[in-house]
Order: sequence, then C-alpha cells, then structure tokens
Amino acid sequence: MRRLAPLILLTVFLRAGIGAAAPATPPVLFNTAWEGASVGLVEVLGETEFRVRPRGQQDARGRNRQTTWWAVRMDQLEGRAVTVRVTGFDGEYNDRPVISWAGAWYRPVMSRDGERWTHVENAAWDAERKEVRFTLPAGAATLWLAHIPPYPAGRAHALVDEAGRSPHARVEEIGRSVLGRPLQLVRVTDGGVPDAGKRVIWMQARQHAWEADTSRILEGALRFALSGDPVAARLRAGNVLWFLPMINPDSVARGEVRFNANGFDPNRHWDEADPRDERWRVRAPEIWHVKRAMLERHARQPIDLALNLHNTETGEYLETMADDDAVLARMTRFHELALTRSTFDPSRPKLAVTPAGGGGPRNTTNAIWVEARVPMMLLETRIGPGRKLARDPTEEDRLELGRTLVALLAEAAR
Ligand SMILES: [Zn+2]
Repeated sequence: MRRLAPLILLTVFLRAGIGAAAPATPPVLFNTAWEGASVGLVEVLGETEFRVRPRGQQDARGRNRQTTWWAVRMDQLEGRAVTVRVTGFDGEYNDRPVISWAGAWYRPVMSRDGERWTHVENAAWDAERKEVRFTLPAGAATLWLAHIPPYPAGRAHALVDEAGRSPHARVEEIGRSVLGRPLQLVRVTDGGVPDAGKRVIWMQARQHAWEADTSRILEGALRFALSGDPVAARLRAGNVLWFLPMINPDSVARGEVRFNANGFDPNRHWDEADPRDERWRVRAPEIWHVKRAMLERHARQPIDLALNLHNTETGEYLETMADDDAVLARMTRFHELALTRSTFDPSRPKLAVTPAGGGGPRNTTNAIWVEARVPMMLLETRIGPGRKLARDPTEEDRLELGRTLVALLAEAAR
C-alpha cells in the first residue's frame, strides 16, 4: 500500500492538470461556408450546448418573414457529444402571423459527410419554449445539421448536365435568375416517334428555396424518364415530358428560405408578371422566363397535365384552379392513381379545387390556368411523418415518389 500511494497521488495531479500544461479544448465552431448553409443567432449555453435560430427571409415589402430553412456545419467537435436546441420558428405567411410551424413531430436531419442525411434521434419538443432539443452522439469531428436534407442548386445543375448527355433529352436555358444563374428546362421524349400524337407533361420544382424534398421527387422522375426501364421507354414514346428542376437557384445557393434575390415570391405574382412587361423580367426573372417558356410551349403543343412541386410541414395535398370538367376528370384520375399506387398521403381527401374567385391566394402558378388554360396542379408534400410511411420520409422515399408520379401523370393524361 505504501508503494502505491505516490502513484495514486501522481494520477490525481495529472488529472487535475497540475505539473503539465493541459491542452485547451478548442471551441465548437458553427460554419456556414458551404452552399445553401444558413443560420441566425447561435447562443452558447455551455461548452457543448447551443441554441440555434433560423435566419429567416422577408419579402420585398419587409413582410412574410419565413423561418423554415437553417443548415449549419459544426466543426471542432473533438469527440464531444453536443446538445442543440433550435427555436425561433415564428414568422408570417400571406401577411398573417405564424406562431411556430414546428411541433412535436419535428426532427431535423444530421450528416457526417454533408451528402447523406438521417433524422436526429432523441429529438424532444418543448412546447413552452417552442423549441426542439436533441443530443448528437460523440465521435465525429464534424457534423452537418439542417432543417431537411439539403439539395443544392449545384446538384440540380449536375443532374441537368447528366440528362443532357442522354439521347432522349434536350436541355434549354430559358433565361437567367436575378444573380445570373441559368434557368434550365429539360425536354424528354422518344425522338423516333412523331410528337403529334403524344401527351405533354410538365413538372417543376424549387420555386421556394427551402423545399429541398421536392428536388428529389423531380430527380426521381427525370432519372426514371431517361432510364432503360421498359415502362420509361413507353413513357417517352407516348409523351413529351418537360422538367424544370430549379426555378429559384439564387436563393437555394445562398441558403435563403422562400423569395428570390429581389424579395419576390416565385409562386405569387403570376397574374401580374406579364411576359411583355420588362419590369417583371427585372424584378422576378424566375417567374418571367418560366411563364414565357411555358406559354410558348403550351401554344405549340398544349400541356395536358402540369405539376408544381412544393413542401409543407405537415399537410399533403393536390390543388388546382382548373374549372373545366374534362381537365378536372384528368386531375381527379391522377389524384386517385397517386393515392392508390404511391406514397402520396393526402391530408385532404380530394383534389382541392379553388376557383380563381375564392379560396387561397389567387396569384400563384395555378393562375396560369385562368390566363392560358395550362392545366396546372400544385402538389404539396409534407416533410414530417405521414400515415402511409409511418416515419419521416427518407431521401430514397422522395426519389421513389418521383419515379412513380411521372408515370401516373402520363397514365392520367391518356
Ligand atoms: Zn412552396
């Protein structure tokens, strides 16, 4: 015992840092130097506990601050577990206050490589603080965190480049965003079959920057349409398919939430943004060019069904302003097919028809029906868990939904 005593004392001294310069543990860093990253105030609650708030984005009038998107990388974790609290979800929508869109269902996503994402475990919702709290496991030096799995503008451009190498696709640049990023439209069809008897399908995504899940739906659809699957070959032989993967690339790249770089909402103003009015080309080229491209193509060969992809937190539904019986029959057929043959899991039982005279905002993309009889449907898919999946949707779930929906659109259009 006597011999051991000095050793024990030495151990105690070393643990206390006496007799050697203890290396200082470097602080955890919050890094936003990557595409799509965004964070507002970060409060340091302790060495390994932080409170994070989304930055939010307002429109050109200083209204409608939306607080959904946040994405940040944590560096210098040095094997430490960290607890993160996320709050600050109040905002405004259609000029009305939103009191925290988040709730007990909400689980952000994490990644070890910035590529593959999983929902955080042990997320707990504090209803009083309107705050989600979770602890990230120790181990990694770096972890990425985000609202939902990001889908950068660069990935959409790479997808379009890849599509352009297919013999079945043609890529067109229809214009540029406020900050000069290309707006790319992909046309997919079987060039060996005359276009005259084909149906025409239009699919578009990312009017709103935060709605990254919709990009995976569109990617799944586009990849399937170009694939060697026999169903895809029949799809190309019977249809002209237009894909517009990235309508708001500036805001996606800059980690913004909803509006374009001038503060205009790409899914509003569709009744005002006249393609002959140059002012709209300056304010919102993302609307101006897309609308012009759509109207030109619709005049050449009418679009039979168009799908505008969006995300919500907990609602999932299909909505249109169309009021023609034949068109509504086609859309209702699509609704039924999607309900029975895909993971589409609507929170409203039927296709929502909101005539131009009533219902929600009248100036969305759906207004293109009123102006030019383009049979446009809004598809909102939820980011939270649904009844069919009975869990949070994964990246693969969204790709799969896209593969299924494009075939069902063509089936409903026949
Ligand atoms: Zn949206």
